Amino acid sequence: MAEWMNISTLKETISGSSAAEITASYLETIGKSGINGYTYVFDGALERAKSIDKDGHGGMLAGVPIAIKDSISTKGMPTTCGSKILEGYVAPYDAHVIERLKVAGAVILGKTNMDEFAMGTSTESSAYGTTLNPWDPKRVPGGSSGGSAAVVAAGETPLSLGSDTGGSVRCPAAFCGVVGFKPSYGAVSRYGLVSYANSLEQIGPIATSVEDIAVLMDVIGGYDSRDSTSIDKEIRYQDALVDDVAGLNIGVPTEYFGEGIDAGVEKSVWDAIHMYEDMGATWTQVSMPHTKYALAAYYVIAMSEASSNLARFDGTRYGPRVDGENWHVMASRTRASCFGKEVQRRILLGTYALSAGYHDKYYLKALKVRTLVKQDFDRALSQVDVLMAPTMPTPAFKIGEKIDDPLSLYLSDVNTVPINLAGVPSISVPCGQVDGLPVGLQIIGKHFDDSTLIRSAFAFETNTDHHTMRPAEVV
Ligand code: GLN
Repeated sequence: MAEWMNISTLKETISGSSAAEITASYLETIGKSGINGYTYVFDGALERAKSIDKDGHGGMLAGVPIAIKDSISTKGMPTTCGSKILEGYVAPYDAHVIERLKVAGAVILGKTNMDEFAMGTSTESSAYGTTLNPWDPKRVPGGSSGGSAAVVAAGETPLSLGSDTGGSVRCPAAFCGVVGFKPSYGAVSRYGLVSYANSLEQIGPIATSVEDIAVLMDVIGGYDSRDSTSIDKEIRYQDALVDDVAGLNIGVPTEYFGEGIDAGVEKSVWDAIHMYEDMGATWTQVSMPHTKYALAAYYVIAMSEASSNLARFDGTRYGPRVDGENWHVMASRTRASCFGKEVQRRILLGTYALSAGYHDKYYLKALKVRTLVKQDFDRALSQVDVLMAPTMPTPAFKIGEKIDDPLSLYLSDVNTVPINLAGVPSISVPCGQVDGLPVGLQIIGKHFDDSTLIRSAFAFETNTDHHTMRPAEVV
């Protein structure tokens, strides 16, 4: 497994030797660990690095390699969303974030594995095989951006992008012992992200340090007229890299430490909160009474939006087709044979929740609960600066342990989905280990106060060494 390198070390190395050398060393590492983190490795990466060497190293990420979740359109590369229904599809355009990365001089190494259409918490629902957790190959890397987190943890890239609809950046970051950030809704353009549940999701970075997260956010964040939910408000992430939490007021939501939270996880998170106290912050217990309804509301809304968003995959426009005597037969055969079980389950349930007669009972009700959950956050965050809780209730579970029991898989999202319902920012940082497996501390902030999150996470990282723990050799 290759060394972990952060952006500043990489840039020094690149200016001392070359971007091509760095890219070549990552390309050599990819695949050696056998974790199945990449669905595609870009064969033009070395050429791109060489051209950056020729043009000089001006950009913020000049010559720095990055891996991209396979649901983000990347021109000329496959974008499969971990699904057979997009097998062979090559994106004809770049997502907004990819355009930004290219301007900044980043070198895209390839596309990373994910749960099919980002539906999952374990990366076991990919049509291209499960990704293994570099800390223990018998365990899941988390999901749905499991490939993106695993390749960072395994040293197969210094940086990656994922997307977070209900925890998909934070969960795999927590399970793989790296940092994952879900920005405020509207802070990063979704143009070019294949939608699963668009009212909930944001593209977010994964890295080995908060500092790298801030650099990456300065590159990909900001207004884009092609996303109608993009907000024109500047956030300067790197300016928030300040080691100072004196006077920071932390809220600890009681409901996030409920039933099912592993005792070791709970202890690591409390140790972290006490560390903040030592650093000059204060904490108070807060209550967010609607948290218990958030999971159900999230799944109704996410499945409803998915049923509509995935209607476009009908065998006509993209990917493979299974022929039939008319369009209806062709579309239904294609969808039945190319969508996996979990995707089909969610399309069925979402269609049901939106159908006449049930719409008020399920979808509308879920939207009302969403408002109540959002009000919980507004209330709590008017009393404190940030909230802190476990990202995931347990460390990474075993491959196969939950895959046949979707409900227990959904339950593991209990601490991440409320954040997406509210649209607020949240970061997961490593804060300890249980039986040799990493634990994530989740820090949640006010909408568009992403800077306070970065500052809080940076101060923790500066005063602790949890983020430097790395997995041993995988194979
Ligand atoms: N596990 C959640 C789901 O399956 C979240 C996934 C995500 O954030 N993309 O919907």
